[in-house]
Amino acid sequence: MTSQSDIASRRQALLDTICQTARETGREASDITLVAVSKRQSEARLDAALAAGHRVFGENRVQEAQAHWADRRDQVPDLELRLIGPLQTNKAADAVALFDVIETLDREKLAKALRKAMDESGRTPRLYVQVNTGEEAQKAGIAPADLPDFLARMRSDYGFQIEGLMCIPPVEEPAGLHFALLAKLARENDVPRLSMGMSSDYETAIRLGATSVRVGTAFFGERES
Ligand SMILES: *Cc1c(COP(=O)(O)O)cnc(C)c1O
Repeated sequence: MTSQSDIASRRQALLDTICQTARETGREASDITLVAVSKRQSEARLDAALAAGHRVFGENRVQEAQAHWADRRDQVPDLELRLIGPLQTNKAADAVALFDVIETLDREKLAKALRKAMDESGRTPRLYVQVNTGEEAQKAGIAPADLPDFLARMRSDYGFQIEGLMCIPPVEEPAGLHFALLAKLARENDVPRLSMGMSSDYETAIRLGATSVRVGTAFFGERES
């Protein structure tokens, strides 16, 4: 069981650590967003997070995100929802309708579907490109070598202003190497923001320039299976 006060105190501890880590590296804490990853968490925990004042949430599946947030969104107008999992083109319209940020743009076909959904709905979620920094065959994301061309096409052919880059490092490698690579790619390609770091490595990510960290279990407790 996780009580409402557990979530409030874990959230505060995370915010304090983010603040402290930012200060140690000469950064502004206000430049770092704590994204609470609410996939496979109970309704009670979502409400506890809202009651604690939290407003920015990450989800990795469109359908689950709708179930979690479509109604709550009406009660909480300043909610910010971020899609951090793979997006199928047939879900692009649903994703554009629900999310404020889509962090997993990773292929031209998806860009096309998003452009169409944005033009039809008038909603324009902010976009991040997912980079497969570990070049893992099973993982989504643009290979680092292909990133400059991909970004150029996103900007010129689709009119997208890409806000950030996102990565999920390979589990068996030191995450810092991948965070440093993502930061370098962002600098080289004039992309302002970096989504990197999870429960186990968000402090490392902040030291290497993360502007948002995606924290699930350290915020909410263990997920339901
Ligand atoms: C689940 C998930 C997270 C959060 O993971 P924790 O280890 O629970 O913090 C972060 N990013 C992505 C892309 C995820 O799918």
